[in-house]
Amino acid sequence: MFFQKIDQILENYKISSKRNAQVFLRNNQILVNGNRITERSFKLDSNNDLISVNNKILPKTKNLYIVFNKPLETVCSKVSDRHKTVFDYIEKNDLKRENCSLLHCAGRLDSQTSGLLILTTNGAFSHFLTSPETHLPKTYEITLEEEISKSELENYSKKIKEGILLPPEKKAPEYFTKPAESEWISLNQLKLKITEGQFHQVRRMINALGSNVKTLKRISIGNLTIPEDLEQGKYKIFSQEEIQKLLLD
Ligand code: URA
Repeated sequence: MFFQKIDQILENYKISSKRNAQVFLRNNQILVNGNRITERSFKLDSNNDLISVNNKILPKTKNLYIVFNKPLETVCSKVSDRHKTVFDYIEKNDLKRENCSLLHCAGRLDSQTSGLLILTTNGAFSHFLTSPETHLPKTYEITLEEEISKSELENYSKKIKEGILLPPEKKAPEYFTKPAESEWISLNQLKLKITEGQFHQVRRMINALGSNVKTLKRISIGNLTIPEDLEQGKYKIFSQEEIQKLLLD
C-alpha cells in the first residue's frame, strides 16, 4: 500500500547508505519477491514484499503509528533549546520500540498550533499523508483576532473556494492555494478544510484575506478526528490497518 524506494529501505535496515545504494545493488544479490533488483529507484512495500539480500530474508518492517493531541508551545523537531518537542511526550518504553529512530511527524504543526498530529516510522506512509496528490483533507479550527462583517465573510469564503495568492514568506515562495472549504461558526470563528500543507499555509491564507489568526487547532485528517478521550499531550498507538481505516473509511 505504501511504497518506498529500495535505496531508502536499505538505509532503514542499516544495510547500505542511500548514497552507496546503487553500487551495493550492483555488487550484491537483492531479490524482491524473487526478482533481482539493480536500480536504486525501484519501489516496493517493505510491509508486504519479501526482500532478500544475498539469500538472507529481511524481517518485514514493523512500523509505529501514533495519534497525538499536540499542546501549544511544542515543536515538531527532534530537539529544541526553546520549546518542548512532541517527542518529549512519547514514553521511554515506546521510544525503545523497533525502528523508533525513524519516528517523525507526518505533516508538521507550528509551535502555536494545537491538535491532531500523526507520528510514524513509515516514511512512505507520511509521504502519502502529506502529498497534495493524495487530496487528503486536513481540517483546522480557527479563531480570528477580530470579528469581520457579513459581507467580508462572504468575500473570504469565495476567495477560499477559488484559491488565494500567498505572498512569499521566509523560505516559502509565492503560492496560489488549491480550492478549499470554509464553514463559519461565528464572525470570528471558522473551520477550514484544505488538501495541501504549504509552509504556514493556514496563517498565510488568513493574513492574505486581511485578518490575523488568534488560535489554530487541527481537528481532523481525512476521516480521523481527535479521539474524544485523548487529552492534550497524550497519544494512542495504532497498527497500519487501524490507522488506514480511521483515515480513509
Ligand atoms: N497552517 C499553519 O499556518 N500552521 C500549522 O501549524 C498548520 C497549518
